[in-house]
Amino acid sequence: MKVLKFGGTSVGTPESLANVKSIVEAIPGSAVIVVSALGGLTDKLISTARLAADDDPKFRDEMEAISSRHFNVISKVVDESKRPQAISEVARLLSELKRIFEGISLIRHLPGETLDLVVSFGERISSVIVTFMISDAVRFDSLDFIKTEEWFGKNIADQKLTSSLIRETFSTPFTKAIVPGFISTDRESGHITNLGRGGSDFTAALIAAALDAELLEIWTDVDGFMTADPRLIPEARVVGEMSFVESMELCTYGAKVIYPPTIYPVFHKNIPIKILNTFHPSAPGTLIYDTETAESFNVKGVSVLRGTSLFSIIPPEGVDRGDTGSRALNALARQGIKMYPVTAFANAGLNFAVTSDDENKALAVIRSEFAPELPENLWLSPVVKSGLSTVAVVGDNLRRQPGLGARIRNSLMRNGVTVNAFSEDMSDSTLTFMVGRDDADKALRVIHSLVVD
Ligand code: ADP
Ligand code: ASP
Ligand code: MG
Repeated sequence: MKVLKFGGTSVGTPESLANVKSIVEAIPGSAVIVVSALGGLTDKLISTARLAADDDPKFRDEMEAISSRHFNVISKVVDESKRPQAISEVARLLSELKRIFEGISLIRHLPGETLDLVVSFGERISSVIVTFMISDAVRFDSLDFIKTEEWFGKNIADQKLTSSLIRETFSTPFTKAIVPGFISTDRESGHITNLGRGGSDFTAALIAAALDAELLEIWTDVDGFMTADPRLIPEARVVGEMSFVESMELCTYGAKVIYPPTIYPVFHKNIPIKILNTFHPSAPGTLIYDTETAESFNVKGVSVLRGTSLFSIIPPEGVDRGDTGSRALNALARQGIKMYPVTAFANAGLNFAVTSDDENKALAVIRSEFAPELPENLWLSPVVKSGLSTVAVVGDNLRRQPGLGARIRNSLMRNGVTVNAFSEDMSDSTLTFMVGRDDADKALRVIHSLVVD
């Protein structure tokens, strides 16, 4: 049994849905099909909810456009015999959504829980349409079995509970199970939540892991995992094979192909991932599995994480650096803030990077950790450089290339890109370079042509 996930562009138009239909109907035996909302719809739901919260009457036109888009798709992809039922189910969901928008405009307030409810309609509706489009398909509702819990103000998957609910749900025989991606419910309150933007990949991975699938296929709009985002680097080429760690590193550092948390559950079960193109199904794609591959080039890819902040803590003479470092890092970890250590050119203190979203929280955590020393020591207030981008170079074999980091830094320098900080010996597979926001694309090009071309 395999699990397939089709992203927003794959289910975005009647033409692309026709491809989905032929791909899925050609699978012999049973499969679980996870679908995203129609392409661009999640953003549209968010912006419409915001219009409603501002009591801007334009939200009604947007709601109309959302409805027509879905009905138009149904008229083109659902067989006539099933169409009335599809229309009636989708109309029921759309009218509920409309009432929610009206409610938001009345109270002029959009709390996070309400926004989560609004965005859930994207996948709830697309999964109904796909179920009616595919023969022998049955819909299974993620709201019943993907469970989240609150963790430092975020909703994260409760993987243990989710796994057992998935096994229970899918224990009855099925041919093609259609599942809405992204959406979930809180394990305590039952309120609708989600797994974060891009989270349909994660839904598919949780199902693949729980059911011990033989393969997880991520169907998207590119021919596979490429050496860089082809929108930024047109020369980027498809990488035939990649290890779990390499894909994890590239995605953590901004490669949008797979939502980062996706890889862990399948990695632990050693279930390979295949990246495939819905618009070009015959392309071989990328196989991600437990291997160190022997491709002709060692670097598998270059990616960029925009919005990272560099923290520097400089202990004065006589203060134990190791102790300061571990206190700072532990304090951040206790608050659920992810960081990675870097070396900064400007100083030899403790340097690390966090995402811009975590910057204020990280600052508060560090200040409070060192509060007892604050009155007398100037160093306790970290120096923060905001708005940087982190470019990552990834390949399992990078450690076998001593001097690569220095070559990259020299090349960036020659091309007028200032490197604020870098990490070259923290990981076997990844080198990172923190550059100014406006230099990020140039840095990506310089590095890609140096290490990949
Ligand atoms: P989906 O809607 O199918 O989930 P996404 O937009 O989330 O698709 O991910 C696919 C996109 O990821 C591609 O269109 C491409 O622009 C982008 N991308 C970024 N980095 C890479 C990379 N290294 N290889 C391939 N695609 C990449
Ligand atoms: N529809 C959601 C989003 O746009 C989830 C997904 O597509 O994976 O973020
Ligand atoms: Mg995606």
